Amino acid sequence: MIIVLATRNRKKVDELTRMFAGCDVIFRTLDDYPDCPEVVEDGRTFRQNAIKKAVQIARHTGCLALADDSGLEVDSLGGAPGVFSARYAGKGASDSRNMKKVLTEMKDIDNPRRRAARFVCCIALALPDGRCKTFTGSVRGTIGKQPRGSRGFGYDPIFYPLGHERTFAEMAGNEKDDISHRGKAMKKLYSYINRMIT
Ligand code: IMP
Repeated sequence: MIIVLATRNRKKVDELTRMFAGCDVIFRTLDDYPDCPEVVEDGRTFRQNAIKKAVQIARHTGCLALADDSGLEVDSLGGAPGVFSARYAGKGASDSRNMKKVLTEMKDIDNPRRRAARFVCCIALALPDGRCKTFTGSVRGTIGKQPRGSRGFGYDPIFYPLGHERTFAEMAGNEKDDISHRGKAMKKLYSYINRMIT
């Protein structure tokens, strides 16, 4: 089975393909379809964005398409950065600028309980005819006072998953996958695909 991954985020592609190891699936990325239209992520929810990306790419390529829309929700920031996670400090902002903005906005909050946050991931799997199914996962944690670790991507260096004393960026990839929002959504998708192909 061929699945097109509807993302240009290399780190996401790495995580998604790593989680599918052992499954009889051939992945293609948007690099294999250079003329794919840029999908505008203007949804109000992760689910709306994931569906929009997956459906447009499935229609364009004529293949099954898988899109991930995900982000960080910080309680004390009213759920921000949320769907704006990738561009919190402005369009094209780097991961470190986005993290810095979150840390600056939380600089006066010392109580770890008031530094609660969660990562959310919605994965959409679409057929070329527009049919689409979604799978969601989330992981709760707290936001650290400064970045730690160099693995992963995005907000990983400031996110301590609940019950752990290391950030996602201090964990090995498969350790993060076991507990992450994306890992949880992928597990649901994985068993769905396995049911489809066996
Ligand atoms: P999207 O590509 O529009 O879904 O944007 C997702 C953004 O959310 C990324 O650019 C990161 O900033 C953040 N994000 C999503 N998942 C993760 C993760 O697993 N670790 C760290 N940051 C993440």
